[in-house]
Amino acid sequence: MLKQQLEEVERRIQAACDRCGRKREEITLIAVSKTKPVELIEEAYHLGINVYGENKVQELVDKYEKLPKDINWHMIGHLQTNKVKYIVDKVDMIHSVDSLKLAEVIEKEATKRECEVKILIEVNVGEEESKFGLKIEDVLPFVEKVAKFPHIKICGLMTIAPYVQNPEENRCIFQNLHKLSVDITRKNIDNVNMSVLSMGMTNDYEVAIEEGATMVRVGTGIFGSRNYNLSI
Ligand SMILES: *Cc1c(COP(=O)(O)O)cnc(C)c1O
Repeated sequence: MLKQQLEEVERRIQAACDRCGRKREEITLIAVSKTKPVELIEEAYHLGINVYGENKVQELVDKYEKLPKDINWHMIGHLQTNKVKYIVDKVDMIHSVDSLKLAEVIEKEATKRECEVKILIEVNVGEEESKFGLKIEDVLPFVEKVAKFPHIKICGLMTIAPYVQNPEENRCIFQNLHKLSVDITRKNIDNVNMSVLSMGMTNDYEVAIEEGATMVRVGTGIFGSRNYNLSI
């Protein structure tokens, strides 16, 4: 079941790459394992998947402790400042940075641990559905401030598009995020890299790839639907 689903996602990623002349290596598939048990992640790990996305700190830490250390964990959900300390030295990247307060706490915790934290800035491109993320016009001033934090490395942008019946409806959101990243790149800000565009989920990752996504976050398409009533 898992194997077939992974193959199907891989096939679709490749097809999307073929449609727009991109290489498969340009895209990182993040397997979103939230609510899924450790055993299922182990199964995916043995099928060659070693990048996982989680949206809750406690769950990420539990899984981090139980699973092989060569797994790359990505924090993709809203992050409360008081929980930063539990994950700064465990995650490969934090996708959901959307406030100066949060960036300051990440900087402080990374300084204590003498590590560098890779982050993406979450942008609320659609501006209605999502509660989190910066407005497009606030992103550049934010980048300019956070670029000065020595223990934070800005790697790009992330967005969560709304759930829509037809994924084509989100194309424009992905185009706008891409355009914003190009605009920021042109500013040539020290310590800022815009090489990552984290966009696209099960419902719309193919469109996101056509519009330049370099990371797609796929949960349901790999692991099946989630049951939020089960604890891990
Ligand atoms: C849950 C989640 C995903 C994956 O959603 P699916 O529709 O199951 O692929 C991607 N990104 C974020 C931020 C999520 O919280």
